[in-house]
Amino acid sequence: MTQIAFIGLGNMGGPMARNLLKHNQHVTVFDLMPEAVDALVAAGAHKAGSPQEAVAGADVVVTMLPAAAHVKSLYLGEDGLLAHVDKSALLIDCSTIDAQSAIAVGEQAKQAGIAFIDAPVSGGVGGAAAGTLTFIMGGREADVERARPVLSMMGANLFRAGDLGAGQIAKVCNNMLLSVLMAGTSEALQLAIANGLDPKVMSDIMLQSSGCNWALQKYNPCPGVMDNVPSSNGYQGGFMVKLMNKDLTLAMDTAAQVGAATPMASAAQALYRLHQGQSNNADKDFSSIFNLFAKD
Ligand code: NAD
Repeated sequence: MTQIAFIGLGNMGGPMARNLLKHNQHVTVFDLMPEAVDALVAAGAHKAGSPQEAVAGADVVVTMLPAAAHVKSLYLGEDGLLAHVDKSALLIDCSTIDAQSAIAVGEQAKQAGIAFIDAPVSGGVGGAAAGTLTFIMGGREADVERARPVLSMMGANLFRAGDLGAGQIAKVCNNMLLSVLMAGTSEALQLAIANGLDPKVMSDIMLQSSGCNWALQKYNPCPGVMDNVPSSNGYQGGFMVKLMNKDLTLAMDTAAQVGAATPMASAAQALYRLHQGQSNNADKDFSSIFNLFAKD
C-alpha cells in the first residue's frame, strides 16, 4: 500500500487528509498544532512527532502550508524534508506560494534526485471537504502522472499548467480574479440592500442573470443567504483575509515581473488591505469583505 505523509492540517489540509483516509490510504500526519494532528488521528491517521518522522519511508509527501517561508523552511536546509525523504518519494506541495519559491525547492529536489511538483488547489474548504478540489500542477509530465492517483482522491479536476512553477502562476491568476469577483459581488449585494431589496432575492436574480459567478453560486458573502458557507458562520473557517492578501501580493509581483497591467487586482488589493486593517479581520474568511461595503 502507498505510504502517504501529509504535513499541514489546517482549514484545507485537514479535510484533504481525511479524504485520503476515506480511500483507505495509510496516512501519517504532522502539524505544528497538536489538536489538528489529534483530530486526524481520531479519523484513522498515524501520528508523527516531527516532519522528519512523518516522511520516513513515505512514497508520497503532500504539504499544505500557509506561505512560501513555511514551505522553504520545511523542505530546505540541513534538517529539511529533502534531507530525510527516500530518493524514490514524490513530493507534492499544494500550498499557494510564488512560482520562484516553488522552482527553487523543485530545483534543489532535482539536484538531490527527488521528484517534486507544485500543485496548488482551487475550490475552497467546501471543495476540500467534498473531495472536489481542482489541482493545478506544475512539473515534469512523468511526475505529474505519478501524482494523479493520489490527488484524484482529494479532487475532481486535475490540470498540468506546465513546468515547475506553472501551477503557482495559474493559481495566482485564478485567485486574482476571485478577489475581484468577491469584492464586486459584495458591492452589488450591498447596493441592493441599501435600496431596500432582499439579498436572497437579489442573489437569485443575479444567479440567473449576466452577473452570475462563483461567489454567488458557491460562496455567497451575505450572511443568511446560503447555508454551509463562512458568511453564515460568522465568517469563521474558509479562506482567511490575510491569505487573500498574500495571494494578491503574489499576483502583483507576478504582473510586475512581466510588466503586465492589473488595475482590477490593484483596486482589489487596496480593498482587502483596508479590510484587513479594520476590526481584526485578518483571520476571518475573505468573503467578509462584504462588510466593507455596508452603508451603516
Ligand atoms: P491554515 O492556516 O488553516 O493551515 C495551515 C496549517 O499549516 C496550520 O494548521 C499550521 O499549523 C500548519 N503549519 C504551518 N507551518 C507548519 C510547519 N512548518 N509544519 C507543519 N505544519 C505547519 O491555511 P489553509 O487555509 O489551510 O491554507 C493553506 C494553503 O492553501 C495556503 O497557501 C492557502 O493560500 C491555500 N489555499 C487555501 C484555500 C482556503 O479556502 N482556505 C483555498 C485554496 C488554497
